[in-house]
Amino acid sequence: MLTSLYSCKSDVKTIAENNDIPTADLNKEDIVVYLEELASDAYEGRRPFTNGEKKTIAYIKNEFKKMGLKPANGNSYFQDVPLVEITGKPGDVMTFHSPKGKLELKNGDDYVLHTQRAAEQLSLNKSELVFCGFGTVDPARNWDDYAGMDMKGKTAVILVNDPGFGGEDPDFFSGDIMTYSGRWTYKYEEADRQGADAVILIHETTSAGYPWFVIKSSWAGTMLELDRPADADDCALKGWISLPKAKALFESAGLDIAEQIRNARKPGFKPVPLNATVDATLSNKVKKDVTKNVIGYIEGSTHPDEYVVYTAHWDHLGIGAPVEGDSIYNGALDNASGTATIMAIAKTFTKVKPKRSVVFAMVTAEEQGLFGSQYYAEHPLFPLSKTVANINMDGVNPMGGMNDVTALGYGLSSLDIILEEEAKKQGRYVQGDQEPEKGYYYRSDHFSFAKEGVPAIYAGGSTDHKEKGKAYAKEFNKEYNAKYYHQPSDEYDPKTWNYDGMLQDGQLYLNIGLRLANSDFWPEWNAKSEFQRKK
Ligand SMILES: [Zn+2]
Repeated sequence: MLTSLYSCKSDVKTIAENNDIPTADLNKEDIVVYLEELASDAYEGRRPFTNGEKKTIAYIKNEFKKMGLKPANGNSYFQDVPLVEITGKPGDVMTFHSPKGKLELKNGDDYVLHTQRAAEQLSLNKSELVFCGFGTVDPARNWDDYAGMDMKGKTAVILVNDPGFGGEDPDFFSGDIMTYSGRWTYKYEEADRQGADAVILIHETTSAGYPWFVIKSSWAGTMLELDRPADADDCALKGWISLPKAKALFESAGLDIAEQIRNARKPGFKPVPLNATVDATLSNKVKKDVTKNVIGYIEGSTHPDEYVVYTAHWDHLGIGAPVEGDSIYNGALDNASGTATIMAIAKTFTKVKPKRSVVFAMVTAEEQGLFGSQYYAEHPLFPLSKTVANINMDGVNPMGGMNDVTALGYGLSSLDIILEEEAKKQGRYVQGDQEPEKGYYYRSDHFSFAKEGVPAIYAGGSTDHKEKGKAYAKEFNKEYNAKYYHQPSDEYDPKTWNYDGMLQDGQLYLNIGLRLANSDFWPEWNAKSEFQRKK
């Protein structure tokens, strides 16, 4: 369980004593209308770059306009998000060369390789292999797995997860709770910052959380990336190798991999040259396209230059492989429900004249890698230094009213204070992520804001049904994950869909936003959190 270390108790008092907070009731009918529309077959599953995208963004834009939101991007409600579709084909083999000879790895069985660069041909020629522990650089922990090593012309070989994972000490890194530096996305980004030729992660089932075949299937075929000018230093190639091949590589350098992993978990670790080089190739088909965020806002009456930003991703998976004759992946829960609820919140906000500005960003391409929100956070339409907080909604429970509010990232920032107070008013209790080892905090759009330093919240009822209790909620979630999640069956069904939970979470989100938008409160990251506001 995470502990909260509030760094700004005085601010708590300020918000608690502020009596000027307007109240407003969320209208269930608004949610129903938006949800039924967006989840219908006419929207073709709302995949970026399709007819479904055109319909979806036009609908949200028109509704924003009707309710009186201002366009956030000059005269436009749209923000272009340039993406590139890369279909990579690695060479049949990748080869390690050491004084002991050649070690060949087979594509798919032993290694996967891809790129985040929009380039048609990429290769590694005799790039020196260096074992860089967990690939983590964290000055706050006095930790540097690249210490003293210039990575130009070299390939980093890296372990997955955090040094604290699987250890005895819950305070060393965060023990089994995954921090961002444990995610493969971080490891890729850090290798880019180090200017390495390439980065290769060593797969290990327990630390990764999934077996090799998941790596093999998820890193083959077509992938989307943000289309941005490649930094000359970015890694050309990124990939994974299987544990048996990693062992063989270490052996050829006269090293025992188990001992090296133990060393990598100790403070003071230094990178270890593996006395070997790597040759590899990758050919890509590259296609560029543009998808759109839809963003409207209400100007604040007294602090128009301070912003509360609501997000929900409008996109889903589109039309795909049919299941029981249905090929439209409607994404009613994921995330027509969140989009509809945030739109209903926007409509309510137009009637209360908030003191600070309130921004409603319906973001694109979440399913492919949080790209719409990442693009916004890297190219904000309103300065992030003036952004008070992000409130994100992704998948609202259709099972009914709940006793719990389960908050990802609970304990990370003083946003918890408002969340707890508002939950309490609804007679609900707040609890943290029930599966913190899985890193869910890093897997929806609020994370794009957290990463850029804006305190962000993503919370909702999920584990404790008001009338039917915890066992019922657990069974409901289990069934959803097995039968509906990312399948054509994630559809709106007026017979089974219970709006009480959406209304309850929507009202909670509205109340939190009203508090933030009508006070001088600046939520801050707690000292222990891995995020910090950027100046
Ligand atoms: Zn989602």
